[in-house]
Amino acid sequence: MRFSFDTLGIIHSPYKEKFAIPRQPGLVPTARAQLVLQAPYDHPDTLRGIEQFSHLWLSFVFHHTMAQGWHPTVRPPRLGGNQRVGVFATRSTFRPNPLGLSVVELLGVGHEQGCLWLDLAGVDLLDGTPIVDIKPYLPYVDSVPDAHGGFAPDAPTPALTVSFSAEAEQQLQPWLTAHPQLRQLVIEVLAQDPRPAYKKGKVDEKVYGVRLYDLNVRFTINEPTCLIVAIEPA
Ligand code: SAM
Repeated sequence: MRFSFDTLGIIHSPYKEKFAIPRQPGLVPTARAQLVLQAPYDHPDTLRGIEQFSHLWLSFVFHHTMAQGWHPTVRPPRLGGNQRVGVFATRSTFRPNPLGLSVVELLGVGHEQGCLWLDLAGVDLLDGTPIVDIKPYLPYVDSVPDAHGGFAPDAPTPALTVSFSAEAEQQLQPWLTAHPQLRQLVIEVLAQDPRPAYKKGKVDEKVYGVRLYDLNVRFTINEPTCLIVAIEPA
């Protein structure tokens, strides 16, 4: 059987590129996004009662990587990027059906001038991600406290302590009007150490850049510290 699904809505998130997006939702609680619904799903009736739930499941398409196809085995970053396991034993983006599943916090519902959206937090979704289903998270069935987490037993603890150079601190200030939580967002994103596994534990002199909103955040890493050296318009 083959299926085709409609896009229900599009995610508007601070993550403008894949680099540095957390590996799972909730790891960067400050990452806010809007899910803007599309016709004919943008009628307020479709969301009636949803505010009663604190969290939602989002099913989405890995639209940015789907053209790259899939392999029966993948190398999860959690295993250091060297060991192969079956694709279905992972949450890899490279899957036969490029569908993702994320539980996110629901902050509220917005409705203005014919536009209907959900305000979300803790997302792990690239800006522009198409959403194909929305469901309430039901703690009594979706939370399994004694479940085994395999090779990913716990949330990874943030690896790095993040600080801002005096210059970066100054450059940040004007952007706080549009994005009041930007400072905390940058700290939470970079504390995860977004570099590829092979870079970790080695001397690293590279100056990295990550796009958040319309900014390029430039940083260096000298484990266990991360120094933000500049915040520039992208
Ligand atoms: N929570 C989801 C799941 O388990 O299905 C996604 C897990 S996947 C390991 C998370 C990664 O997907 C992020 O770090 C980001 O690099 C990538 N990603 C997010 N949105 C994407 C998109 N629209 N297309 C391709 N990759 C995406």
